[in-house]
Amino acid sequence: MENLLELYQTMGISPAVYQYGEAALQRLRRRFDKIDQIAEYNQAKVLRAMQKNKVSAACFAATTGYGYDDLGRDNLERVYADVFHTEAALVRPQITCGTHALALALSANLLPGDELLSPVGAPYDTLQEVIGIRPSPCSLAEYGVSYRQVDLLPDGAFDYENIRRAITPKTKLITIQRSKGYATRPTFSVSQIGDLIAFCKQVKPDVLIMVDNCYGEFVEALEPSDVDADMTVGSLIKNPGGGLAPIGGYIAGTKACVERCAYRLSAPGLGQEVGANLGLMPSLYQGFFLAPTVVAGAEKGAIFAANLYEPLGFRCVPNAEEDRHDIIQAVELGSEEAMIAFCQGIQAAAPVDAFATPIPSDMPGYSDKVIMAAGAFVQGSSIELSADGPIRPPYAVYFQGGLTWNHAKHGILLSLQKLVDAGLVTL
Ligand SMILES: *Cc1c(COP(=O)(O)O)cnc(C)c1O
Repeated sequence: MENLLELYQTMGISPAVYQYGEAALQRLRRRFDKIDQIAEYNQAKVLRAMQKNKVSAACFAATTGYGYDDLGRDNLERVYADVFHTEAALVRPQITCGTHALALALSANLLPGDELLSPVGAPYDTLQEVIGIRPSPCSLAEYGVSYRQVDLLPDGAFDYENIRRAITPKTKLITIQRSKGYATRPTFSVSQIGDLIAFCKQVKPDVLIMVDNCYGEFVEALEPSDVDADMTVGSLIKNPGGGLAPIGGYIAGTKACVERCAYRLSAPGLGQEVGANLGLMPSLYQGFFLAPTVVAGAEKGAIFAANLYEPLGFRCVPNAEEDRHDIIQAVELGSEEAMIAFCQGIQAAAPVDAFATPIPSDMPGYSDKVIMAAGAFVQGSSIELSADGPIRPPYAVYFQGGLTWNHAKHGILLSLQKLVDAGLVTL
């Protein structure tokens, strides 16, 4: 039988790169133990919610048409609400992606004349057209919702002074993005988000708070909904889908907010009562059940990547030592050439489409060319091992996912190998 090193060599990973990875891993054992402990806690949270709501085979039945009295769908929403500790949740395959879920939460809860505030700098690229920062038909701006933004301080902290000034009688909703997105600012911890929410509600008690929780679910034992967010929003082809959900988004929050989101998604008066599950319930339930473990594996991959690349002189956000609040690892590679090599390594490590070669191209919703590497079972799923980034300085690649830690490790080693092979790195 060939040993692991020989097996890896047949897959393009040299002994030098493998050994370099093993040396980094030796330093990470204790951190990995801590991640496993959070996964165990979150697993228990999900399990208890499923047991409490009496999940049974009947919940997995497909429904079609209007989807009235859809037991599986309604019960899944109760499971989500229990895990997020909210009054209600909307969890639907009809929510097509994270941007859709966020656009839904915003447009359902903002009316003409209201103002939206982002106290954490510019939101994720695709939200800029939703809000109207970049003009678009059907943007909030077109409907008469104004937007204000307070940037973070140079050290990444909240600018409380200017946030206080920016909250006016018009401010209806405050949006807080947990993950860094395509920026190189730090991702916020749930506790930091809690401080910011408390501050905003002290300034204006009736203001609504929405947290873009994309990539953050199950990384900590708490979620933004545990620190008083009115709506916590994310995508099912990221963390909470556990790699099995083929589509979907969720909004967990107060009954009043979630009900409005349901009216906006279907129609006023119909709300949560309609929306057939189309046979997707088994993967939505099972994916949510697996999500805490899958997220833990992805987080280990992110930490491993930082501990491989940082010693080679590449700036990593978060850095090799920092605590994690999402599963994203940014590595500033400094050139388009290095971004391409990195992404080609991730692609070559995939179980699906490993033979494809990623190249930079234009993407709807993004203003720069973007390179994306992903060979996923669910197309575009970024809880599966994937890397992407806009082709602009500092040429940062955003690396995330991995349905298993072992696969994440393999992909990161192969990315490094491609940089070595291209002569861009010497070990
Ligand atoms: C991915 C992401 C989104 C958008 O989700 P899509 O499913 O790609 O539409 C929004 N915000 C953040 C922070 C994200 O990471």
